[in-house]
Amino acid sequence: MSPPMQPLIVGNWKMNGLVAALGELWGMSQARPETEIWIAPPFTLIDRAVSLAAGRIAIGGQDCHHSTSGAHTGCISAAMLADSGAKFVITGHSERRTDNHETDAQVRAKTIAARAAGLTVIVCVGETEAQRDAGAHESTVTEQLDASLPDDLTDIIIAYEPVWAIGTGRTPTPEDVAAMHAHIRANLVARFGEAGQGARILYGGSVKPENAALLLGQPNVGGALVGGASLIATSLLAIAAAA
Ligand code: PGA
Repeated sequence: MSPPMQPLIVGNWKMNGLVAALGELWGMSQARPETEIWIAPPFTLIDRAVSLAAGRIAIGGQDCHHSTSGAHTGCISAAMLADSGAKFVITGHSERRTDNHETDAQVRAKTIAARAAGLTVIVCVGETEAQRDAGAHESTVTEQLDASLPDDLTDIIIAYEPVWAIGTGRTPTPEDVAAMHAHIRANLVARFGEAGQGARILYGGSVKPENAALLLGQPNVGGALVGGASLIATSLLAIAAAA
């Protein structure tokens, strides 16, 4: 079944962007694209990005802590994100699962904390190249979904990002994207019923203006989570136009 909602394009700036980068955000917000665009800049830019985007583009965080406050040097709580004007947060990105050894249980705890703070949560899942080569891509994603998601799908968006496609310029075939998104949809429907049918499932991993129409045109693909190409306003707007 096709995604029930308007496509959504989310830009993840990762650890990129000084104040000067806000010019790109300004360009995106002024273009007023028909497709919904959200941007997750680094924490340091959230406050300014919220003012600049003036509600035309939702601003979010790339991660949050699972606690509401406390002795966690260097961490940011979901309440702090919401207090800065953020509307959403990404949890479980593969770079955090790898670099910070985040487990599915931690991703789930962060997701629950973020929702409690009033944020929409984009929960990322995806297999490594070795898991795909071993034919374990679907079982890997099933395990991640089962252990990372909370008990209901309110304000939850899923992002399928094959680890081997992130930042590499490589993407799965459209058939493989369609097959995995159908697999995720079936998992969500089996667990959450009607809510699973309506949930947004984004694709992420080397989405560019040239491949956006093909990848986002697959059934059950409700939009894209875009890294590198989201740093340039014209690229992200071209992806949004293709969606
Ligand atoms: P990429 O990153 O578009 O640069 O591949 C996607 C992501 O990590 O969300």
